[in-house]
Amino acid sequence: MAVKFHDYYQTLGVARGASEDEIKKAYRKLARKYHPDVNPEDKSAEEKFKEISEAYEVLSDADKRRRYDQLGANWKAGADFTPPPDWAGWASYGGRPGAWENVRVDYGDLGDIFGGGVGGAGGFSDFFETLFGARGKARGARRGPTRGAGFAMRGQDLEAEMEINLEDAHRGATRAITIQSTIPCSACNGSGGINGRPCPTCRGAGVVSQPKTLEVSIPAGVREGSVIRLAGQGEPGTGNAPPGDLLLRLRLKPHPLFSVTTEGDVQIDLPVASWEAALGARVNVPTLDGSVEMTVPAGAQGGQRLRLRGQGLNRRGGGRGDEYVKLKIVNPPNPTERERELFERLAAESQFNPRDLRAT
Ligand SMILES: [Zn+2]
Repeated sequence: MAVKFHDYYQTLGVARGASEDEIKKAYRKLARKYHPDVNPEDKSAEEKFKEISEAYEVLSDADKRRRYDQLGANWKAGADFTPPPDWAGWASYGGRPGAWENVRVDYGDLGDIFGGGVGGAGGFSDFFETLFGARGKARGARRGPTRGAGFAMRGQDLEAEMEINLEDAHRGATRAITIQSTIPCSACNGSGGINGRPCPTCRGAGVVSQPKTLEVSIPAGVREGSVIRLAGQGEPGTGNAPPGDLLLRLRLKPHPLFSVTTEGDVQIDLPVASWEAALGARVNVPTLDGSVEMTVPAGAQGGQRLRLRGQGLNRRGGGRGDEYVKLKIVNPPNPTERERELFERLAAESQFNPRDLRAT
């Protein structure tokens, strides 16, 4: 979408290095000459007046002037102009198919507020809107973090944390999250002011925050600290630029049974009776997908780790980690008379000395 370049310095007849004062003087002189009141019914004077107003809007505002000056001095008035490829906002669009669709879907009202008819009576050029956005005309319309950072500036990325269960990380899930989103204030249409006074609803900020619930699709195989990017759910962009993204950093809720060890592996503490450890046993062990049978070998020791291969967490690229089963030897907390007798007999007859290091 090429637009015609406007040489604002030429329009006001001042040098590129002109001072604020020189610009103001040049504008006043030209504005008096071409003002519609002075030239009723004169179309060319009206056009000229618009040009002058637009040039003054840019060159009298230090911020806009600085941004305009970044384009360099080699542009000729009337030349076809497209924003440079490294332009904030435009650049991100190129590498991000689908971002525009999100703009339409989630920030459709921005188009209503800022897209149509914003030029209004002033009727600034397409060139102006390309550089500063349709909103550029309303001074101080937005005091958000994106203000003044570029001509058409992609909205900032937002970051948030989301807690999920280990099972969700393993199998994937769809979960809802509610975030505070920033939207243009409807009381003042995002301008921050009503009849020249700060808008009471947004206190002049032009934006308000409101809760917004998003459905988040969690892929199987995510981990503590994994980031899910929701395109277009960040801060709104300025001008015609798309909004930023929402980066959701995942936190795993502590699991009552499993702890996550190294990549994809989980560990569980498994209580076994002293005689199960001594004699060996077939036991049921919980896994992320239900329980499986496992053999505790005869003579197993407390703290020993047994591996259930492939019973850990799903990995993003396929495959699974392992589950480690750490044996915890337990005894009956309230032994029966008979159990006591059996232990006493064992104690009396056993030659085993657990403090003799050679024996273990
Ligand atoms: Zn407001």
